[in-house]
Amino acid sequence: MGERSSADAGTVLSDLVDLVIPATCALCHRPGAPLCRGCREAVARCLHASARPAVPSPPPPGIPSCWVTGEASGALRAVVTAYKDEGRRDLAKVLAPWLAQALRTAVGADAAARESLRGRGLLVVPVPGSPRARRRRGDVPLRPLVSAAVATLAGRACVADVLVATRTTLDQSTLDAVERAANQAGATTVRSRQRGAVEGGVCVVVDDLVTTGATLAEAARALREAGARSVLAAAIGATTRRSGGGPTLRHPRP
Ligand SMILES: [Zn+2]
Repeated sequence: MGERSSADAGTVLSDLVDLVIPATCALCHRPGAPLCRGCREAVARCLHASARPAVPSPPPPGIPSCWVTGEASGALRAVVTAYKDEGRRDLAKVLAPWLAQALRTAVGADAAARESLRGRGLLVVPVPGSPRARRRRGDVPLRPLVSAAVATLAGRACVADVLVATRTTLDQSTLDAVERAANQAGATTVRSRQRGAVEGGVCVVVDDLVTTGATLAEAARALREAGARSVLAAAIGATTRRSGGGPTLRHPRP
């Protein structure tokens, strides 16, 4: 409750600030809007015509079926970084529809998820993030995006903050695929008082960007261990295969 009140207060404050200080583009700093027309077009080139599956290569064991709206590179990655790490929370309105599109497509493609929307309710589960990142940022930037995306689902669904980090992990951005898998292994669990909600349920794990899939695989492992019947995943974007090694993902044709 306290978290919601403070989030609402933050929204009111940011609306007031918008009245006084005109927004500047998060990418090129041109005044006028949180994302100017030119930068919006650059981001649009990173977005797929419709959400599509993303399969990391190599896929981490147990990675759930994952749907994404765009390619996590260039302008799209820059917008997510500005939102998360440069205080540009006014970009939530820009990012949320892209996450929503991936979430709706993931649910629409999965019979158990569709049935859950009509029945006991679908659990949409944000990846927990590290306590260190939460302290640094002072909030959980993924959370309002997930709330906005869930609100676009037709049926019974809720944001289920059921996952918690069991230990400190390293910053993933500095690690390769093998190191990320080791960094994440066993690092997540379902809160003990929420295991009943997860048991027998259908869960969609949600993250902002997917690179090696290690975080999604670890979240899915924890949910299945707590008795989830089925787990799938959705994200704004995923990294695609790059020449010369590095984190890779391939997009199978839908
Ligand atoms: Zn711009």
